[in-house]
Amino acid sequence: MGKPALNLIWMGITLHKSLPRGCMNVNYCVTCLRWHKPCWCCVLRGCVPKKLLVYSSKYSHEFEESRGFGWTYEADPKHDWSTLMANKNAELQRLTGIYKNILKNAGVTLIEGRGKIIDPHTVDIDGKLYSARHILISVGGRPFLPDIPGKDYAIDSDAALDLPSRPEKIAIVGGGYIALEFAGIFNGLTSDVHVFIRQKKVLRGFDEEIRDFVAEQMSLRGIEFHTEQSPQAILKSADGSLSLKTNKGTVDGFSHVMFATGRRPNTKNLGLVEVGVKLAKNGAILVDEYSRTSVDSIWAVGDVTDRMNLTPVALMEGGAFAKTVFGSEPTKPDYRFASIA
Ligand SMILES: Cc1cc2nc3c(=O)[nH]c(=O)nc-3n(C[C@H](O)[C@H](O)[C@H](O)COP(=O)(O)OP(=O)(O)OC[C@H]3O[C@@H](n4cnc5c(N)ncnc54)[C@H](O)[C@@H]3O)c2cc1C
Repeated sequence: MGKPALNLIWMGITLHKSLPRGCMNVNYCVTCLRWHKPCWCCVLRGCVPKKLLVYSSKYSHEFEESRGFGWTYEADPKHDWSTLMANKNAELQRLTGIYKNILKNAGVTLIEGRGKIIDPHTVDIDGKLYSARHILISVGGRPFLPDIPGKDYAIDSDAALDLPSRPEKIAIVGGGYIALEFAGIFNGLTSDVHVFIRQKKVLRGFDEEIRDFVAEQMSLRGIEFHTEQSPQAILKSADGSLSLKTNKGTVDGFSHVMFATGRRPNTKNLGLVEVGVKLAKNGAILVDEYSRTSVDSIWAVGDVTDRMNLTPVALMEGGAFAKTVFGSEPTKPDYRFASIA
C-alpha cells in the first residue's frame, strides 16, 4: 500500500475541542465515523438527556414544598410525558446540529457509517476502504444486561431515556449512579420506584457517608430499596405486567424492569484482535499512558478503554492524544482531579 491519504481516522466522536482544532491548525485531515448520529453517548443517550429528565422530575418536589410557603393551586399540576419527550428530543437535535457544525468548521470530514479495522492503517466503512497514518478509537461502551430468563422484557438506560409513556411501577436493578439517577427521575415523575441491589448499600466506591445519606433521602421520598437481592428471572403475566424474581422472592406488578447493571466496551466486530490490538478480559482496549494501543498506529480514548468512564475524562484523554500526536507535545491524561458524580 502507498502512503496513507489521511492523517487520522477517528472512529466514534469524543468531541474534545482540541481534537478537531488541533488537527485543523496543522492542516491535518480527520475522518470521523459514526453509527447513527454525529454525537456521542453523553449527548444522545447519557448525561444530557438524563439531566433534562432530572430537571423535569424536580418540579414535583418543588410543587409539594411550595404549599408550606404559601402557594396554593386550584388543581394539582399535571405532567405531560409526550411534551417532555418532544422537547428533550428537540434539544438533542439542536445539540447534534451544533456538534456537526463544530466538526465541519474544523475541516473534519464526517462519514456516517460503521467502521471496522482491516489493518494497522486501514478502516472499512460500510464496504469502502480508508487509510491513514493514525487510527483513533473512541467507540465507547454499551449497557450490559445479565443473562437471565426474561431479560428481553427489560429495558436499559438507552430505552429509559426515550420511553413512550411514564412507567407506572418500575423495578431498577443496580446500585450505581446511573441506577439511582433514574430512580430519582421516575420517583419525581410520580412512578412507583423499586431499586434492587446486590449489596447492602448503594453507590459502591463512593464516600461512605454519601452512600448512607443518599439511600436514606431517597427512601424518605418513597423509593423502595430491596437490598442483597440478585435478579434471577423476569416473568410476564397475562395482563402484561412484569414480575422480578430474585434470590429472596418475587415482586409483582411492574410496568417496566430496567437494568442499570454496568456497561461493556464496544469492541466486538471491530477487527481489533485480528490486527493485534490487545484487549482486557472485559473487552476494553489496553493502552499505555499516552493512549497508544499494542499496535503503534492505533490509539484509543474514552469508555472503550474502561479507565474512568466519564465524559470530562474522555474529553481530557482525547485532548492529550491530540497534543501527543499532532502537537508534538507528548501528554499523559491526568486523572488526579477528575470530578466524579
Ligand atoms: C445514562 C448515562 C448517564 C451518564 N451520565 C454522565 C454524567 O452525568 N457525567 C459524566 O461525566 N458521564 C456520564 N455518563 C458517561 C458518559 O456518557 C461517557 O463516559 C462518555 O460518553 C464516554 O465518551 P466516549 O467518547 O468514550 O464514548 P461514547 O460517548 O459512547 O461514544 C462512542 C461513539 O462511537 C460510536 N461508535 C460505536 N461503534 C462504532 C463503529 N464501529 N464505528 C464508528 N462509530 C462507532 C457510537 O455510536 C458513539 O457515538 C453517562 C452515561 C450514561 C449511559
